[in-house]
Amino acid sequence: MKVKVNRDSCIGCGACAAICDEVFEIDDEGLSVVKKEVVSEEKKQEVQDASDSCPTGAIEVEE
Ligand code: SF4
Repeated sequence: MKVKVNRDSCIGCGACAAICDEVFEIDDEGLSVVKKEVVSEEKKQEVQDASDSCPTGAIEVEE
């Protein structure tokens, strides 16, 4: 699974980092950045939850 954040859509709410801080982090600009683009099996569900929780649909998940 691969994950990307569309920073043009991100509003920096922090939900993704709260759900999965191994993959998402809020950077100096106050926007989400992906720390690990390729996600392991055990983190898949967390990343999916983060994507589902993103209020602007900024998280793209690719199987
Ligand atoms: S949940 Fe969405 S809007 Fe909120 S910080 Fe993460 S990517 Fe940005």
